[in-house]
Amino acid sequence: SKWVYGFGAGRNEGNASLRDLLGGKGANLAEMASIGLPVPPGFTITTEVCTAYYDNGQKYPAELQGEVAEALARIEAAVGNKFGDHHKPLLVSVRSGARVSMPGMMDTVLNLGLNDDTVEGLVAASGDARFAWDSYRRFIQMYGSVVLGVDHHRFEEIIEHAKMDAGVVEDTDLTAQDWHRVVAGYKDMVAEVTGAPFPQDPQAQLWGAIGAVFGSWMNQRAVTYRRIHDIPAAWGTAVNVQAMVFGNMGEDCATGVCFTRDPSTGEDIFYGEYLINAQGEDVVAGIRTPQPMSEARAKPGERSMEAAMPAAYAELVAVRATLEKHYHDMQDIEFTVQQNKLYMLQTRNGKRTAAASLKIAVDMAREGLIGEVEAIQRVNPAALDQLLHPTLDPKAKRTAVAKGLPASPGAACGVIVFSADEAEARAAKGESVILCRIETSPEDIHGMHAAKGILTTRGGMTSHAAVVARGMGRPCVAGAGSITVDYAAQALTAGGRILRAGETITLDGATGEVFAGTVPMIEPQLSGDFATLMEWADKVRRMKVRANAETPLDADTARKFGAEGIGLCRTEHMFFDPERIGAVRQMIMAETEHGRRTALARLLPFQRDDFVKLFRIMAGLPVTIRLLDPPLHEFLPHGEHEIAQVASSLGTDPEAMTRRAAELSEANPMLGHRGCRLGITYPEIYEMQARAIFEAAVMTAQETGAAPVPEIMIPLVATRRELEITRAIVDKIAQEVFAEMNYHLVYQVGTMIELPRAALTADHIAEAGDFFSFGTNDLTQTVFGLSRDDAGKFLQFYIEKGIFAKDPFVSIDVEGVGALVRIAAERGRSVKPDLKLGICGEHGGDPASIQFCESVGLDYVSCSPYRVPVARLAAAQAAL
Ligand code: ADP
Ligand code: MG
Ligand code: MG
Repeated sequence: SKWVYGFGAGRNEGNASLRDLLGGKGANLAEMASIGLPVPPGFTITTEVCTAYYDNGQKYPAELQGEVAEALARIEAAVGNKFGDHHKPLLVSVRSGARVSMPGMMDTVLNLGLNDDTVEGLVAASGDARFAWDSYRRFIQMYGSVVLGVDHHRFEEIIEHAKMDAGVVEDTDLTAQDWHRVVAGYKDMVAEVTGAPFPQDPQAQLWGAIGAVFGSWMNQRAVTYRRIHDIPAAWGTAVNVQAMVFGNMGEDCATGVCFTRDPSTGEDIFYGEYLINAQGEDVVAGIRTPQPMSEARAKPGERSMEAAMPAAYAELVAVRATLEKHYHDMQDIEFTVQQNKLYMLQTRNGKRTAAASLKIAVDMAREGLIGEVEAIQRVNPAALDQLLHPTLDPKAKRTAVAKGLPASPGAACGVIVFSADEAEARAAKGESVILCRIETSPEDIHGMHAAKGILTTRGGMTSHAAVVARGMGRPCVAGAGSITVDYAAQALTAGGRILRAGETITLDGATGEVFAGTVPMIEPQLSGDFATLMEWADKVRRMKVRANAETPLDADTARKFGAEGIGLCRTEHMFFDPERIGAVRQMIMAETEHGRRTALARLLPFQRDDFVKLFRIMAGLPVTIRLLDPPLHEFLPHGEHEIAQVASSLGTDPEAMTRRAAELSEANPMLGHRGCRLGITYPEIYEMQARAIFEAAVMTAQETGAAPVPEIMIPLVATRRELEITRAIVDKIAQEVFAEMNYHLVYQVGTMIELPRAALTADHIAEAGDFFSFGTNDLTQTVFGLSRDDAGKFLQFYIEKGIFAKDPFVSIDVEGVGALVRIAAERGRSVKPDLKLGICGEHGGDPASIQFCESVGLDYVSCSPYRVPVARLAAAQAAL
């Protein structure tokens, strides 16, 4: 096989498609050269050499030496210099480059080929002794530390002494003689440290550097990096050897690194830095202050490249257009200017922020560089999530005091409060508050709503706090186990600090970090680009996107973000208002059907009103309403005061109430008296809910002329019989209401598939229902036998140990939970081909899970309102 590929000098043996073989750097050097860009000639030793080297007891393939010699000869011919020649010495750089850029690999060695003899040739050829000796000392320094392993401090000491002797402060003030002396000092020091003279033979230097690149592939840093990022050791690294060009030859020389567009905003402007009369890493080394590229970005006192080197800058502008046109993407480039002539040393697709990725994709599609479909694929849907919320200013200084789960994106800052009531009270006075709880319960909803952000110390990504916060678009850090909350003391301890109620904290819901004090934030900027990309996405997606919403506010948000209906309206969420919770408790605690009916009659008007509002907002779009589902214990009165209240409303004594509460408490409520089991044992509950829905639907139809499309959903069904019984309740009430109000409308009754048995018997269940909605939160819980409220304690450990690749509550477990979804979809449709299928678990807003939903052929996904844009984009990508 061929081990060495040349580039530049009119002969390009590689190209960008050979990244695996040539590494990213080598492949793109060849590509740039082949499209006519000015690339100093060179060659790439392939990654296969690296693999062969390690497979054969660290020996090179026999042909390598010859191929390198031949490729080197071609560089010599192209440049007109000779390696090791006294008069016209060729100097090269030796650069590593794997398939993916990888920290931990060997640093680049520049100016290789210099020795005591060739440095004189460089003096003569350049007519600049200072430049030549500076280049030589740079070479010894780089080669000494990178290849020979000499501590870089040893080199710096020598320079410091030289500067003291010369009485100067800056490196740039040292003369040719000074650098000459530094070189002598370096050589002595290297000989002393390594026990051998500094290699003078350019061939020995070259092979030493090549060996060091391959050696660095197995160094500890690189091995660790590969392990963390799942990069196989077998990929190997390539080595690039390239003729030097000099940015350090005087005032008409420079070196720089830049992006073809601004990587933080996406703005169409050169973004980056350059330095006149400098080489290699000087720009990032921080010894001198680099200057901006474009005049538009120059601050007072700065000298842009555009102003200082107009000719070279103009060349670079042309290169930029060529590169973007060729790669169809924003590039991150490295260049050098030697005596006003531009040379390209590297290009790759540039990393960028979420905001920039959106702007660049849309701009490039408008400029015709890419198509709309390509633009859709360019933007990571998860990145949109960040764009819809305030974020912490990346420039702000901060130290986290704790870290929990990134449960709901966005940043929030406010004073600590420990109860929902306190949150509401202080927010009403115009304060920004962060609600800090060990965990939240449905009774905290009003406080969560009032808060700017939510922090819990217990619970996972689908804990109550996390789900509700995402639904409301509130930033949330959940399960921050290192924080202890002491309600009695009204204080929390985080990172060894005590923070009291009323003190300010900041949350970053995107990273899970918690900060003491205020961290500056940036507001989201939803430009027209966002709407444009969404429009393009909507054109290509097949699945509909609905929202999980129960309040008018959520429903409005959902519509604003483009939801095409409600996929899950959790009726129990409508019961937590202080006004209503009393009636709910009264209903639960009643010991007779009559008692329950009295309480339900109180709830009916509230429910009906809620539905009217939702139906109005959704204006003819489908609205899936789930009948009462949660374990009743969630509504039980706590403490003497609440118990006494309920007792008096029911006309019984508190003692009887306490007894009843004990009766109702369950060992395992999630698998207890909940879901359709409630509707079957207490049909009057579902009767009331069905009545509220149908009355509201008819009222809305009569009022607006647009008939709502209610889809009534029965939760936690395991058997067909359960669905038949509950459906009969709903149908009966529908007929009653339609007759009473003299109006008929179309509705559907379906079920959630959230128990394994339901999935496996979906063909039977489908016969009794019009639609399925996969409740993948509960389905994940029941398939894994994993309590979502308790899993937080060990889930992180499982993920760190690789037992779970991802949190199955965040991204659907395709192999297990997904298999059941697939089975249920197939079996359901085998008896009812037009059975409507959707998903309403948290997975409905997760791009990877959405991809899976597309593959199963679901009709829609439903997610929290703020995730609707994410889902629209992800559904489009899934359809492509
Ligand atoms: P990294 O992967 O760390 O960016 P590079 O191999 O790109 O390392 O080298 C770093 C810098 O060294 C380049 O940005 C460039 O300034 C300089 N350099 C590399 N090769 C050459 C060369 N042939 N001529 C001039 N400068 C070079
Ligand atoms: Mg580089
Ligand atoms: Mg459920």
